Amino acid sequence: MSRVYNFSAGPAVLPEEVLKEAAEEMLDYRGTGMSVMEMSHRSKAYETIIQEAEADIRDLMNIPDNYRVLFLQGGASQQFAMIPMNLMKNRVADYIVTGQWAKKAYQEACLYGRANKIASSEDKTFSYIPDCSDLPISEDADYVYICENNTIYGTKFKTLPNTKGKTLVSDVSSCFLSEPVDVTKYGLIYGGVQKNIGPAGVVIVIIREDLITEDVLPGTPTMLRYKIHADNKSLYNTPPAYGIYICGKVFKWLKKQGGLEAMKEYNERKAKVLYDFLDESKLFHGTVRREDRSLMNVPFVTGSEELDAEFVKEAAAAGFVNLKGHRTVGGMRASIYNAMPIEGVEKLVEFMKQFEARMG
Ligand SMILES: *Cc1c(COP(=O)(O)O)cnc(C)c1O
Repeated sequence: MSRVYNFSAGPAVLPEEVLKEAAEEMLDYRGTGMSVMEMSHRSKAYETIIQEAEADIRDLMNIPDNYRVLFLQGGASQQFAMIPMNLMKNRVADYIVTGQWAKKAYQEACLYGRANKIASSEDKTFSYIPDCSDLPISEDADYVYICENNTIYGTKFKTLPNTKGKTLVSDVSSCFLSEPVDVTKYGLIYGGVQKNIGPAGVVIVIIREDLITEDVLPGTPTMLRYKIHADNKSLYNTPPAYGIYICGKVFKWLKKQGGLEAMKEYNERKAKVLYDFLDESKLFHGTVRREDRSLMNVPFVTGSEELDAEFVKEAAAAGFVNLKGHRTVGGMRASIYNAMPIEGVEKLVEFMKQFEARMG
């Protein structure tokens, strides 16, 4: 068996320890004589799994009691619709468009009401985060929406927008559990787990209780109501049971690493290895405004499409895989999520140095 260094943006690398543990429990989960995949979601064993998962993420993120944690399906993209359907009471919402995912969320919200694009960085290919300290927030906005870490472009909000008292909704898919957050600053935080937490198929929604109401847009399907999932503790129907089990293991792994403070410190150290090299390299350079750089997704280019392609090919042959940039941006992107060890980034930089020397 040989594992590669997987720089995929998602589905992405998971902690080896977690995968091994899951493998050990595959045929017989702790004396139940069955895999978690084969288990009723109403069983005692599964109840413990999902309850521990919730308790552990609450612990990690220090989630206050007046917030609910929901384990849902449909990916992050389903939230693009679920959010307006449940929260757009006045049918008005403000969107800050900093990349493709925010743009898709904005376009989806336009189906349900007046979505206002109050800021955007599309003028410079989403390579920066706009100044959000004094935006024209709508008087009657139900919420202000951001995508906190822009997976494709490699930017991150370092300070949250001034929402002037309006509810903040944030897509944290690609920075979930990468650093501490103050949950009280948000009305709703959500993310697909396949970027930084677990296998595709689970989306986690952390929502303030007062936002969970019966008062949703007419025609909202039962399955797309936060209230139905909150009332049923994420077990209204069969949840993505195996995926939640793996997420639970990752939460325990994160706690063992020292929690989110420790992860932040580690992620900063890890990203610095790559950014420092990009800043000194004559061949490779980053594509994002320095102060907005993401700790999780690092896009870079050589300036030549042929060289980019050659680099991606040679890197893959050397065991550094999935470095090709998003199809809309080109170049390269290294996603260096929680589970990417620092050695992976150090070795990648070593390889980049050798490539540069050979091309020079
Ligand atoms: C990947 C991603 C999405 C889409 O996730 P799906 O689960 O495929 O719907 C949305 N937002 C962000 C920030 C992402 O990185």
